[in-house]
Amino acid sequence: MTLLPRFFRRAALGLLAATLPLSGPARAQAAAPAPTGIIREITDVVGLQPRFELRATAEVANAAAVVYGGKRYLLYNPAFLAEVNRAGRTDWAGISILAHEMGHHLNGHTLRAGGSNPADELEADEFSGFVLRKLGASLAQAQAALAAVADEEGSETHPGRAPRLAAIGKGWARAETQIAASRTAADPSAAPVALALAAPRPAPARSTESEGNADEAAEETAAPATPVRLVGQLTFRNDPSQRYYLTTGLNVVRAGPDDTTEVVGRLTRTDSPDFPYVLVDGQQRRLFITAGGDVYNQQGQRVAKLHGPSQE
Ligand SMILES: [Zn+2]
Repeated sequence: MTLLPRFFRRAALGLLAATLPLSGPARAQAAAPAPTGIIREITDVVGLQPRFELRATAEVANAAAVVYGGKRYLLYNPAFLAEVNRAGRTDWAGISILAHEMGHHLNGHTLRAGGSNPADELEADEFSGFVLRKLGASLAQAQAALAAVADEEGSETHPGRAPRLAAIGKGWARAETQIAASRTAADPSAAPVALALAAPRPAPARSTESEGNADEAAEETAAPATPVRLVGQLTFRNDPSQRYYLTTGLNVVRAGPDDTTEVVGRLTRTDSPDFPYVLVDGQQRRLFITAGGDVYNQQGQRVAKLHGPSQE
């Protein structure tokens, strides 16, 4: 089926039958280095490190995802990519090809022996659609390459054009759903920590601390009506009457009615001399605290003051 050695996975588009064998990394590395910016952009949108070598080489007829010597390579023929861009009438076409090849790597296809198969191709196509939407391409732009160059009929190694375009559409739509959800979500950094009180986490009924910390554990459990040893008090500018306290365990608790308390956040030490403490609430929002007790939000607005306890 393929002329390539087993450890080279051919991830071709199925439109050019002849693919020359690669003879090893020396050849791959001899190829002209290509700009790696697109690798970084693609890996950025999926949150990974760009541990891929992108190589322009005439050794492949179109493009391929291969592993050699433990390294992951994306090989592409620059003439092929230029032709794809021309036929697809958009530079997104070539990018979608590279994203497809990266999809073979990231879905683990290149870890298995054997050549292309239709199921793997559809997975790589779906990844390509997902990535291109994240990078800002329209659905038509994401589909442009395969619309122009994929065979209409499927083969033993590659699906036909229609299912491949559908797979790209599926990935594109998945990214679109994520993006739409992030648009409608409230900006997490704009709200001061006091808003976390909308969904406070109750103080744990039992401490998970070891018995060796019995004293601290007793403070942390803070059952209703049990006094909590406090080392500070927090006053928020937008809610000055609400009392928040800092416990010796560096938990921030909100005083409720009937002397109940709820843990709403926690202080952590940092390495920053300007902000030696950071306050993280139950929704992972952060406030930054100076040595003098001034509390800032991520926009740099002073939103609260940390001072000595109980000066009422
Ligand atoms: Zn492929």
